[in-house]
Amino acid sequence: MPLRLEIVTAERVVFSEEVDMVSAPSADGRVGVLPRHEPMLALLLPGELHYVKNGVSMPFAISGGFIEVLPDRVTILADTAERADEIDEARAEAARQRAEERMRQRHSEEDFIRAEAELRRALVRLQVARLRRERGSR
Ligand code: ATP
Repeated sequence: MPLRLEIVTAERVVFSEEVDMVSAPSADGRVGVLPRHEPMLALLLPGELHYVKNGVSMPFAISGGFIEVLPDRVTILADTAERADEIDEARAEAARQRAEERMRQRHSEEDFIRAEAELRRALVRLQVARLRRERGSR
């Protein structure tokens, strides 16, 4: 049975193809999905999402959202999602530095929490971009 992976944000369909396996960062831990998985709905945390197709693993950076699993389909509703080759590393590095500086300044608890979330998104993007460079994937 084929497994279709759809990664969707409010802005666009980021990815829609048949794949062999999906690995996603759910709030309950990393979930691995093969065809015929039992139906499931879970919260996603900021992190790396991978799919495997023809033995090749492809990473995406996602900043949180939901995953819905059906036996023949995985739908990711993400706040933001980028394919590794879409990530602007210089932008992510600047976002990382900005977030770290705001965390150091600690203007307010709310500001600190927001900066922490920005830092997490930036670190995921940097990690996914690094993976792509190391593997020489697209
Ligand atoms: P920045 O401060 O650089 O905008 P951010 O974490 O605040 O970073 P988001 O609000 O998470 O950005 O995302 C806004 C939009 O920009 C989304 O469409 C997201 O996919 C895209 N985006 C954010 N950072 C990058 C990046 N480094 N490379 C490519 N696209 C990015």
